Amino acid sequence: MTKHIHSTVTLNNGVEMPWLGLGVYKADGGNEVEEAVKEALKIGYRSIDTAAFYYNEQGVGEAIRQSGVPREEIFVTTKVWNDDQGYEETLKAFEESRQKLGLDVIDLYLVHWPVKGKYKETWRAMEKLYKEGKVRAIGVSNFNIHHLEDLLRDANVVPVVNQVEYHPLLTQEELHDYCKKHNIQLEAWSPLTRGRMFGAPVLVELGNKYGKSEAQIILRWDLQNEVVTIPKSVTPARIKENANIFDFALSDEDIEKLNACNENKRFGPDPDEFV
Ligand code: NDP
Repeated sequence: MTKHIHSTVTLNNGVEMPWLGLGVYKADGGNEVEEAVKEALKIGYRSIDTAAFYYNEQGVGEAIRQSGVPREEIFVTTKVWNDDQGYEETLKAFEESRQKLGLDVIDLYLVHWPVKGKYKETWRAMEKLYKEGKVRAIGVSNFNIHHLEDLLRDANVVPVVNQVEYHPLLTQEELHDYCKKHNIQLEAWSPLTRGRMFGAPVLVELGNKYGKSEAQIILRWDLQNEVVTIPKSVTPARIKENANIFDFALSDEDIEKLNACNENKRFGPDPDEFV
């Protein structure tokens, strides 16, 4: 598994998605996001995770065009924001995202949050976009098991991905098992807990043992747990550091040690309360 930076997982519709991507939440829409994306593409990242809500799709598209990397080699994810959910609204929001990115086809379009009473209509619009070939794959984000069960009752297309908060303090084992059973790839947001877990003795210990940073230990743990990961950084040295995770492997025992850190601790909103 996961041998190098270009390694991909085959999603349930046959589309290949890189295991590692660059997250760009909170990267400023202008120069900051452009520089980060160009740097990442130069290093070898081939997946970028943005969203309408991040207000930086334009910069992401610009960086892709300037990078010199062929478009078809890059996997671009964006998401429909909560205020734009519903059938017609989603179709309109998609068109806006597509224009801002300046891309004909989006690789992965996600429902950002399961907005009550709306996400099924949103999903119908996503299915239309998929059938029309405007997106190569469609998925969800922040869906708990009951949201997925509800969606799957009426869906014609099974989401390829569920992107959720995931790190050693929130391992979401039941959700992960459910996703595996339904061939939905789990993807980790805030994999690094935005630094809040750094300094934990287990990370320091494993960092010393493998000669890797705490961030690299967590990101490698994601890969070995078969979770797609999208660490965010706008700092060139960190963008590089976060990609330097393909030359070592954590032992099964150390994977278990990190799994055992779980406290069901969320730093972001709980999907059952947020929307
Ligand atoms: P991360 O866990 O990826 O942490 C990012 C923070 O950690 C930044 O402040 C960054 O700083 C810093 N950092 C990055 N690498 C290192 C490193 N090697 N050493 C020390 N510090 C480091 O948090 P995010 O919340 O950004 O999650 C990642 C991505 O997931 C987002 O960017 C977004 O694309 C997605 N996301 C999706 C959500 C959803 O609802 N679907 C919700 C939240 C995130 P700096 O940039 O200054 O280098």
